[in-house]
Amino acid sequence: MAYEEPVTDYDHIVENCTCAFCGCNCDDLDYLIKNGHVVAVRHACRLGASKIMEDMDQRLMVPMIRGASGELEEVDWETALNKAAELIAGAVRPVFYGWSETSIETMKQGIALGEEVGAVLDNQATICHGPSLQAVQNAGYPVMTLGEVKNRADMCVYTGSNAMNSHPRHMARYTTFPRGYFRQRGRFDRTIVTMDPKYSDTAKMSDIWVGFEQNGDYEFYNAIRAVLKGKELKKDVIAGIPKEDIYELVEAMKNVEFGALFFGLGLTHTLSKQRNIDIAIQMVQDLNKFAKWVLMPMRGHFNVNGFNIFMAYEMGFPFGVDFARGYPRYMLGETNTIDLLTREEPDVFMVIAADPGAHFPGGANKHLVNIPVIQIDIHWGPSTELADVVLPGSFVGVEVGGTSYRMDGVPIFMKKAIDKPETCRDDEWIVRELKERVFKIKAEQAKVASK
Ligand code: SF4
Repeated sequence: MAYEEPVTDYDHIVENCTCAFCGCNCDDLDYLIKNGHVVAVRHACRLGASKIMEDMDQRLMVPMIRGASGELEEVDWETALNKAAELIAGAVRPVFYGWSETSIETMKQGIALGEEVGAVLDNQATICHGPSLQAVQNAGYPVMTLGEVKNRADMCVYTGSNAMNSHPRHMARYTTFPRGYFRQRGRFDRTIVTMDPKYSDTAKMSDIWVGFEQNGDYEFYNAIRAVLKGKELKKDVIAGIPKEDIYELVEAMKNVEFGALFFGLGLTHTLSKQRNIDIAIQMVQDLNKFAKWVLMPMRGHFNVNGFNIFMAYEMGFPFGVDFARGYPRYMLGETNTIDLLTREEPDVFMVIAADPGAHFPGGANKHLVNIPVIQIDIHWGPSTELADVVLPGSFVGVEVGGTSYRMDGVPIFMKKAIDKPETCRDDEWIVRELKERVFKIKAEQAKVASK
């Protein structure tokens, strides 16, 4: 990689900003500002820096509506908001999806709107750590904060997670390298284990790599649990791992002072899905008979956890919440976005701060082609190609402040560093405007109906 000169040409620095990319929510970033733009970021990883310093090429700048020609055409805010409000107010089965890359303040407006129109509100957990949330409901949640891991953990396990690529500063800030109160020698005081079929970049940074077979998760954790309970393993090789290695690993896990297990999509997306997490949770509970052990899902987007926490706080359920009957219902497999789209139920789809066009299976996107789609986002992406109304939002943590929840549930206020483009609006403002317009349409409809 070519050496890049440090940026020295800037007007001022805004310190202690928070990265709006992954669930680490790094809140130690400094933005270097020149002429109202972020020209460099200190302390961020490459993922975070590339998002914060995005070039404006693909920025959604103006509201648009798809015209008779089939092309998106520029309109004023009034026209776009009215069109979106009409679509939402006239819908029978609206779905509001996304939310994980915007603020809690925006979600608050969205929940009120969803409740009014009987929508389904769902976030990216539905295609990500939803199985983990199910497992937590099944088996419990022996969780911790990342600060506890930094100060106490002498063994950290990454399973089904490649933190070096997905959460690049996780090892540096919390698990591997930092010196903690009881771990003064940092890296030398910790054993790092990666359990993953692939010899990933995280495995390369670890002391131990356990390369169990793909889809072998359930069998592998079952074997660990059996050994923890004092049983003999009957097979010589389990999920591709010789039984002697499993005995040795269990012995090491029993003899730590504080163990932390982080799991990712390797568990949630492979065969058995939430059952993989069930058994991982039970394994951690069993380990607590010998040593202190905790676990945590490696939540993806910077505020995916925020939606689940806020939704559960407000409505009692974390995601896939259906207000169709006027009160919240939660039925996994029924009220989740992919299931609804595959069954071709929704008649209006609002996507905010997410890109289903890029990340949903084709079968689900097929239905999005046939129904009106309202997009609130900052970038042109595959979902814009599906959208009928486009409302350009603002970049939380750079252009607008807002609250987010880190992967461990610690709330962080993300401050504003620069002004947003004049033609864009805050996400919170957009959703509030939609809510007020929809409420007005509904009130008028009720007045007419009562005559
Ligand atoms: S680790 Fe995550 S939150 Fe931290 S700077 Fe990188 S992308 Fe941003």
